[in-house]
Amino acid sequence: MTLSQDKTQRSNYTSGLSSIDPQVFEIINREHQRQKDNIELIASANFVSRAVLEATGSILTNKVAEGYPGRRYFSGCENIDELENLAIARAKELFGAAHANLEPYTGSQANHAVYLTVLKPGDRILGMDLGHGGHLSHGAKFTMTGKHYDCHFYQVDPDTECLDYDRILAQAKDIRPKLIIAGASSYPRIIDFQRFREIADAVGAYLLADIAHICGLIAAGLHPNPINHAHFVTTSTQKTLRGPRSGMILLGEHSAPEFARKIDSSVFPGVQGAVHVHAIAAKAVMLFEAMSPSFAAYQRQNLENCQILAEDLMERGFRLVSGGTDNHLMLLDLTQQGITGKEAEERLASVKITVNKNLLPYDSQKPMVCSGIRVGTSAITTRGFGSEEIHCIADLIDKMLSSEPTADTIAKVRDEVSRLCRLHPHIDSIYDQNGDRFALESQYQLQS
Ligand SMILES: *Cc1c(COP(=O)(O)O)cnc(C)c1O
Repeated sequence: MTLSQDKTQRSNYTSGLSSIDPQVFEIINREHQRQKDNIELIASANFVSRAVLEATGSILTNKVAEGYPGRRYFSGCENIDELENLAIARAKELFGAAHANLEPYTGSQANHAVYLTVLKPGDRILGMDLGHGGHLSHGAKFTMTGKHYDCHFYQVDPDTECLDYDRILAQAKDIRPKLIIAGASSYPRIIDFQRFREIADAVGAYLLADIAHICGLIAAGLHPNPINHAHFVTTSTQKTLRGPRSGMILLGEHSAPEFARKIDSSVFPGVQGAVHVHAIAAKAVMLFEAMSPSFAAYQRQNLENCQILAEDLMERGFRLVSGGTDNHLMLLDLTQQGITGKEAEERLASVKITVNKNLLPYDSQKPMVCSGIRVGTSAITTRGFGSEEIHCIADLIDKMLSSEPTADTIAKVRDEVSRLCRLHPHIDSIYDQNGDRFALESQYQLQS
């Protein structure tokens, strides 16, 4: 019996999530509530727009496509080709790229595709130390990258806690890597990509700029763009860029002629299978949104919020790694407060403030303990928090971390968190519009 003949199956197939799978529905519902009730300060987090969410949960998830527009292995790709070409054109325009690959499933996959393009197993990489702000996919020894390549790491200067380009140059001359990676997950300062390119040229290495954390700032013109310096630019799309959980690779005018085709075949079939078509659509929407003046305004507010939070916390006696921030995140050293990053994370979680423990440069604690926390303002800025609310948040963090909070303090902080969240119910208004609990609930509406 076919689906259309079997009435029960047909109705099962077209009913909403809440009636088909109440268990999963209930979990999503609880998570939705958690997102509403918490002050999200994880630097890599953000809230996507309703439009991005709709594209992510759309019927595009049904389409199989391998290869690239005009060069597919399956038929019926005419709409998908148009969609992917649109996303590519938008990415090129937004970042000034000559070539864009929108297919990477994540930022990590994008990096793997670059490695496959220029490295052979055993070749040498020089990337940023994980404990100094680098990312797992840059060669941590227990990862695939770490096992397949000979990975070396540069660190920040012990005094300034900033990148010391002369030291990196000296190290590069010593190690002679085939690939240098510039980019970080927890580095609060501007990265000088031009300087990195000079270092790469001095030792005959390729340069990969991994802009996963800062690409939204770059799109808004608030951080230097590496596109004309690096041979390869990779990124995640779910962080400051406020898109789906996905990735992207960009090539500048200078490197596209040599690497465009190679990078495409490294992504597919090199490290990935069929296209996540729904994610391509969500990335196209994300790029459209990122081209608008309101996105630039959002990023300016993001930086302003981050500055205010950093200054407020320093005034209250917190030490910030490198003495401040130039971007959307900061690292708090909690040694003087006498608590570990893990304790701080737990203490803040108990009052619904979400942060992550983070290793600090030259940290003496283990990675699961850490001496500090990383704090970012991208998500709360999306939610509509401005300077007034940021001053409040600095005060709450101070109350929770400067000394052991009393039960009375904890109760007061909880009330204040709840007040702030109700003041900016941004995710309510975008996701609950028109009574839809989730955008995905409205996807399977029967025509008949
Ligand atoms: C987040 C991040 C990535 C990739 O993360 P995914 O979770 O795979 O998208 C890569 N590099 C850096 C520097 C990052 O911060």
